[in-house]
Amino acid sequence: MDNKFFTISSPNSSKITVQVVAGHFATDSSHRTHYIDISELKSSASAAKSAAHQLSMPYLSKAIVDVIVYMDGTEILAAYLADELLQSGLGVVNAGSEIFLVTPMLSSDGHFIFHENVQKKILNKNVVLTVASMTAGATVNRVLECLEYYGCRLVGISAVFSIAPEVDGRTIHSLFTHADIPDYHFYKPSECEMCKNGIKLDAFMNSEGYTEIT
Ligand SMILES: [Zn+2]
Repeated sequence: MDNKFFTISSPNSSKITVQVVAGHFATDSSHRTHYIDISELKSSASAAKSAAHQLSMPYLSKAIVDVIVYMDGTEILAAYLADELLQSGLGVVNAGSEIFLVTPMLSSDGHFIFHENVQKKILNKNVVLTVASMTAGATVNRVLECLEYYGCRLVGISAVFSIAPEVDGRTIHSLFTHADIPDYHFYKPSECEMCKNGIKLDAFMNSEGYTEIT
């Protein structure tokens, strides 16, 4: 699949890039036409800082944020996002306050949960959720249920990539959208157009990466 790699850059900053691989990918619950590698934004300080700056825009002067709940290895992005939101400046509504960063755990029965010591930090608090990539939205919906259960007030959802502009009626603030990868599609495995056309799977993927099928 090496020849199917391409890079997309944010129009707002050349530092904000993701690698995209075209192919036939399988997750636990879907088949997809692309794998989006956001490892640069997960691990590079300068890239994460630029991305966080963009992601802070919808909240900077508008939303009190007490907690950032990060998913999919977005903790560095989340930390820089908190830093952006806490900066001093005219109209920066969180200036001089505090923002906690937490992530839920997956219980043995497949539910997202927070430990007792974290529950106190999030109860009745204003929460921004950061995720890497949103496609089918199943995981995010489960996280949203979890946040509701623990009494969080969702202020916004921020993503590196989101195929849809909203989930469950809530706007997703994403750095990249379907317009950046217009031929991106995902299917239920039983309805996959690539499978129907006899195209073999290239790789299994999850949020960590993909493994080619040889
Ligand atoms: Zn398929």
